Amino acid sequence: MERTVKLRVEVDHNTYSALKEVEEEYREVLEEAINYGLVNKTTSFTRIKAGIYKAEREKHKLPSHYIYTACEDASERLDSFQKLKKRGRAYTDKPSVRRVTVHLDDHLWRFNLDKISISTKRGRVLISPTFPKIFWRYYNKGWSIASGARFKLLKGNVVELYVIFKKDVKPYEPKGFIPVDLNENSVSVLVDGKPILLETNTKRITLGYEYKRKSITTGRLTKDREVKRKLKRLREKDKKADVRRKLAKLVVVEAFKSRSAVVLEDLPRNTPEHMVKDVRDKQLRLRIYRSAFSSMKNAIVEKAGEFGVPVILVNPSHTSSTCPVHGTKIIYRPDGGDAPRVGVCEGGKERWHRDVVALYNLRKRAGDVSPVPLGSKESHDPPTLRSGRWLRAKSLHSIMNEDKMSEMKV
Ligand SMILES: [Zn+2]
Repeated sequence: MERTVKLRVEVDHNTYSALKEVEEEYREVLEEAINYGLVNKTTSFTRIKAGIYKAEREKHKLPSHYIYTACEDASERLDSFQKLKKRGRAYTDKPSVRRVTVHLDDHLWRFNLDKISISTKRGRVLISPTFPKIFWRYYNKGWSIASGARFKLLKGNVVELYVIFKKDVKPYEPKGFIPVDLNENSVSVLVDGKPILLETNTKRITLGYEYKRKSITTGRLTKDREVKRKLKRLREKDKKADVRRKLAKLVVVEAFKSRSAVVLEDLPRNTPEHMVKDVRDKQLRLRIYRSAFSSMKNAIVEKAGEFGVPVILVNPSHTSSTCPVHGTKIIYRPDGGDAPRVGVCEGGKERWHRDVVALYNLRKRAGDVSPVPLGSKESHDPPTLRSGRWLRAKSLHSIMNEDKMSEMKV
């Protein structure tokens, strides 16, 4: 697992120009390396390096390891370009090198709390950053600094250094399962075999922002400073990321405490169409899909990695339309009705909430054989929590207990 921390340092003119030289020549090597990969149809670091190393070494007076790291950089860029191309999302015929971030290996930089040194053509330059809080958090909590780092040059003699922290966490052998079902406006979880629905309102929020954005930009240029400022103030991304982070943490900590595995649907990467079918605008639909499904899934998987919680991805087909008890079809009201997410099992005639069905099916697909409760109230009417409430909660368990208490009072 890796985390990158950004350090911004203002340096003197000499240091900056020494690094500028490195950046310019690094860019040349990088472009050569990319071209070599394209011409020879390879993304392999070893092959690219073998192909260009000698010529580049003669051309540049750079410390030789920059040629290695530029080849690595090229191999990564070619690799992700190829992936984009496969998915039909590459808009150029070759990867373009617009901004350069210089990659460093353990020969090219040394880390020290007082001074960080970086190799240049003129010898090593020293920079002394002030470390942000987030840096100390990783530094003091068992993360180690990786041998590779990167830097980028900004205007005004500012160097941006990316330090990478690493931590090895081995996933444990799971004793149970916590299935998580993602939806447009909610996420449902099975805790201790009991379903609970957490409202996220992702779709509603995205549509709301779209509406606000339109009303800000209609009839105006998006380049307009006032418009830019207003758009920035919406902070849609930050707010959604915050919801994702908190949700991922609640789920993962719960799984960690009970030594369970998290079970998720292995979502198709590129077919949001059927999931958010009532939204006509294609871009908007993609945005909802990303924030409600793929980004949410990534947030949970990433958090799980941090805690060593195993994640099991299962086939998503028919998870909400097959009865987990009888294996027969569940019919949802075709006309929508007043509870469109509640259906009736063709086999046993019992009622099911769509999200609860999915949870039990996910658990089953992960290999759990524990019995599924039949015809309980929770199966068709699971407790639902508004986002305002679960966002403040310390754990999913405390939510469940609170919920029991309030039921008893009623
Ligand atoms: Zn049934």
